[in-house]
Parts: sequence; C-alpha cells; structure tokens
Amino acid sequence: AKTAGRDTMRFFDPAMQAAIDQRSAMEADLRESLKRHRFPLHCQPQFGADGRVVGGEVLLRWQHPQRGLVGPAEFIGLAETTGLIVGIGMQALHDACICLERWSHIAGLADLVLAVNVSACQLLQPDFPDRVLAVLAETGAPPSRLSLELTESAFARDVDDVIAKMTHLRSHGVLFSLDDFGTGYSSLSYLKQFPLSALKVDRSFVSDVAHVANAGAIAELIVSLGKTLGLKVIAEGVETERQFAFLREHDCDAYQGFLFSPPVPISEFEQRYQQA
Ligand code: C2E
Ligand code: CA
Ligand code: CA
Ligand code: CA
Repeated sequence: AKTAGRDTMRFFDPAMQAAIDQRSAMEADLRESLKRHRFPLHCQPQFGADGRVVGGEVLLRWQHPQRGLVGPAEFIGLAETTGLIVGIGMQALHDACICLERWSHIAGLADLVLAVNVSACQLLQPDFPDRVLAVLAETGAPPSRLSLELTESAFARDVDDVIAKMTHLRSHGVLFSLDDFGTGYSSLSYLKQFPLSALKVDRSFVSDVAHVANAGAIAELIVSLGKTLGLKVIAEGVETERQFAFLREHDCDAYQGFLFSPPVPISEFEQRYQQA
C-alpha cells in the first residue's frame, strides 16, 4: 500500500491541482488586499459584571472585491502559512491604535481597553516590539489601553525570547492577555513566567457549562486559576443567560459573547458607546 501511495503521487491529480490553484489565487488576493487596505476592523464589546462596557476585541474581516465580507476562519490560516499575517496584523494594529488615540478624547470611550489578536508568527519577528512601539508613537495611542491577545502557541517556541519581548512592551504599558485558555498545553508553572494581565476562558468551556457533566467544575477551576495568578479573567463566547449567571457566580472580571453583542463594525462600536 505504501508503494502505491508513493506511485500515485507521480500522476497528475486534477483535484489536488485545483486546490493548489485556488490557494495561490487566494494568496494573490490577500496580497493585493493588504496593499489596498481591505481588512476593516470589527469590534466585539466586553462588559463588566455590572453591565458597563469595559473594552472590546478587534476582529478582522476581509472585504473581498467579489466575495464580500469574509470571516477570519477563511483567511487567517493561509495568511499565517504565507507570512502575510505579519503585514495584515500590523495594519490591524495600526488601525486599532488610530481608534485608541481618537477614543482617548471621547467620553465613554477613553477608558476602554482595545484587544488586538497577535499570531505566534508575528511575535516571532525580531522587530515585533519595535514595530509595536513605533505604531504607538506614530498614532499617539495610549499604550495602557492596548491589550495584545496571544494564544498558547506563541509560548511554544523560544520562551526566553517571548518573555523578553513581552517584558519590553509591558514596560511601556502594553497589556497582554492569554487567549483560548485551556485549549493549549501550557503547564501552570509555565504560565507564571509570562507578564500577562488577563486570561480568556475559551468558548468551549463556557458553552459546556450548561449541559456537559463536570464542565462547570472545569470552568470554575480555570477562573480560580486565573485569579490565583493575579490575572483578570475574561469569559468569551457567552451565549446564554444561564452561562452568564454561572460565570458571574464565579466572579469573572469581564464577559464577551453573542448574549451581549456580536462583533460590529468599529464605527458602530464607537457610536454605540460614546457619551454625548
Ligand atoms: P478568537 O480570538 O477566539 O475570537 C473570538 C471569536 O469568537 C470571534 O470569531 C467572535 O466573533 C466569536 N464569538 C464571539 N462571541 C461568540 C459567541 O457568543 N458564540 C460564538 N459561537 N462565537 C462567538 P471571528 O471574528 O470569526 O474570529 C475567529 C478567529 O480568527 C479569532 O478567534 C482569532 O483567532 C482569529 N482572528 C480574528 N481577527 C484576527 C486578527 O486580527 N489577527 C489574528 N492573528 N487572528 C485573528
Ligand atoms: Ca482573541
Ligand atoms: Ca478566543
Ligand atoms: Ca478561539
């Protein structure tokens, strides 16, 4: 069977070729869209237990000339494997910082923290901290209103390098949150090493609390772990009143999910939360 598998590789496979063509067409589209600034920011609000908005998470969309608005599930993966995420991510960061600077003069928006997702491959760039600081300086955005969301995959490589970069940015006021917590493989002792400010409880734990046995206990454990480490705990993917009640009982610091609001265009976010 092994030999047959190898032999078939020598034949022209139209389906595989079509997939390759589609991928490279999409890569070209992404490249073009990066040049033309076609990644509008959407933003999903986060709320405190008292219902007041405390911040938002920037979520990218791709304004595709033919396909319309495309969600990140369809392009972030390819952007990462092609390295285009480095440019796309910097554009998102730049746009987010322009908002933060503008918000710093607007009642209702000035105190909000804006979270921006950062891929592991962005963090791996040697000049990542300098580029972030350059964007902050150029836009005049307050660094302490910017939170960079990392996933555990960012901690899988050179730990000392990651810690050094985070510490450098942290010394300028930039915040870090650990995204999708519980889905990766970080050990607890490991977590303490990183200068994090917040931990986001992954949606999978939140969605299970209402029906899966022991899921409540797991969610509870994650929340108390975050608190023990001195981190803010943000629950994401809150969809039902029941989930919200459960999480509130365990005293999360902030809540994000469809129960409150889906991600909206950032201009709509601004209009909604600014105070006249
Ligand atoms: P994420 O960082 O975990 O973002 C949360 C995702 O959950 C968002 O999907 C959001 O729309 C969705 N969501 C929010 N509330 C709920 C809810 O109550 N129920 C459910 N079922 N889903 C909810 P979205 O916008 O499609 O983004 C998907 C992923 O794409 C993000 O997951 C993030 O990993 C990635 N992504 C988005 N923007 C960026 C970016 O600027 N840079 C990078 N590197 N990745 C990004
Ligand atoms: Ca995120
Ligand atoms: Ca997440
Ligand atoms: Ca996720």
